[in-house]
Amino acid sequence: MSTTELQHQKQLFGHPIGLYVLFLTEMWERFSYYGMRALLVLYMTASTLGDDMRGEGLGWTSKEALALYGWYTMLVYVMSIPGGMIADKLIGQKKAVLYGAVILCLGHGVLVLTDIWAFYTGLGLVILGVGLLKPNISTMVGGLYKEGDIRRDKGFSIFYIGINLGSLLATIIVGLVVNEWGWHAGFGLAGIVMVIGLINYIYGQKYLIHVGNLEITENDPNEISYGKLYGKLFKSPLQLVITIVLLLASAYGWYALETGYGPLFVFLTAVVVLLMMIYKELNSQAHKDRFLVLLLSFIMVIVFWGAFEQAGGLMNLYTETNTDRVLFGWEIPTVMFQSLNAGFIIIFATFVASIWAKRKLKGREASSLFKMAIGIIIMGFGFLFMVFAAMEFEKSGASSMIWLVLAYLFHTIGELCLSPVALSFITKLTPVKYASLMMGVYFAATGLGSKVAGIVGEAASDFGEYTIFFGILIFTVIIGTLFILILKPLKRLTHNAEENERILES
Ligand code: GLN
Repeated sequence: MSTTELQHQKQLFGHPIGLYVLFLTEMWERFSYYGMRALLVLYMTASTLGDDMRGEGLGWTSKEALALYGWYTMLVYVMSIPGGMIADKLIGQKKAVLYGAVILCLGHGVLVLTDIWAFYTGLGLVILGVGLLKPNISTMVGGLYKEGDIRRDKGFSIFYIGINLGSLLATIIVGLVVNEWGWHAGFGLAGIVMVIGLINYIYGQKYLIHVGNLEITENDPNEISYGKLYGKLFKSPLQLVITIVLLLASAYGWYALETGYGPLFVFLTAVVVLLMMIYKELNSQAHKDRFLVLLLSFIMVIVFWGAFEQAGGLMNLYTETNTDRVLFGWEIPTVMFQSLNAGFIIIFATFVASIWAKRKLKGREASSLFKMAIGIIIMGFGFLFMVFAAMEFEKSGASSMIWLVLAYLFHTIGELCLSPVALSFITKLTPVKYASLMMGVYFAATGLGSKVAGIVGEAASDFGEYTIFFGILIFTVIIGTLFILILKPLKRLTHNAEENERILES
């Protein structure tokens, strides 16, 4: 066996070393992403006069800034669909991550410039870069483990800690840098950190030899042809009718709603058509059923992120305006509450993963679908504390911050039951040749969830926070419970994908 081959097989703390290479790469990538994201709305709304120490902002109204922010945070994830397709069909995940990382370095680099063209170009590049990197690095984590390896879920939990370590460091450090050296130094820091991520990834290649390579070669009978799949639509009456209905609905959306929704609906229609045609083409009933159950689980994903993402919007505003943030005479800055989620993830990730692992070893219910449904319910109960907060505010004019801490704690435990589990689940259920595409669809679902979150959050100005928080609580608990009620038939559709997991050498 060659030395590189041996390096590839090395293990650390019971997992392939490649996991730690991906962990660090994603940690730096998330640092740059969340660092930049934390600045975005503040930079857009800061005055153009440069009258505070952070320098000139763009002087936009908060409505304009939030609108761009909403589209931006959705698009980064929606772009994971083409990012996944490019990997599956053209270059494999490993190269896609590399190109994504390079584009991200360029994007963050351009944002250092102060011109407005640089602002839009930088954001555009970040959208493309994340689209290429994010789904594919996640699929690569799955690729480190063989089918049926029980360590896969734990591997994803460890990877998830890397994500949040990056986001925690970013939310602390970037703010300090901006206060000292201005907005563009903050953007620049995100760029430098991404360069570190890139170097780290390149250096770690020797541990990733068998992961993320292009599965399909040219003239392979398995080669994916998206064009052909779309072409077959004209021979499939049912799918054709569904497509026409969706296109009509998109056209109506284009005409009736804010600009931007029309193209989004058309794009989503194209994705739905592709998924329908892939389903039709899959060659065994087991593959078809698994594909279907995965898509159904994405309903949970959209609902989950639609509620969870109130964190950056409505809950953030609530913290700012309705919460008593004074602790021992010091007023805690609102942004600091955004670090609670990442902090709790780092503390509880392995704890939650081992609770599930123990349950599984005892032979009790611990399927991914079950964990995801429980995750939604736990996260939903987090909103009960926000309901209490709103009640206290109505009574006394300020609510205690303990409610926020408890809400974020429940949100985080819920996230840990759903998010890393969903990533792992996708890599278990999807045929290898569509693995990155489905990871992309997953991230797009999370992006749509964020957009839904924005729309629901806005409704608070009409209905009041109490009603919105209470509504989210009820809705999420109902959805989670419904999925638990239909767990048996859903699990049947997975065709034992998770039944015989055990420790395997990878
Ligand atoms: N916070 C996680 C991350 O940054 C999950 C984001 C998501 O799935 N939309 O990866």
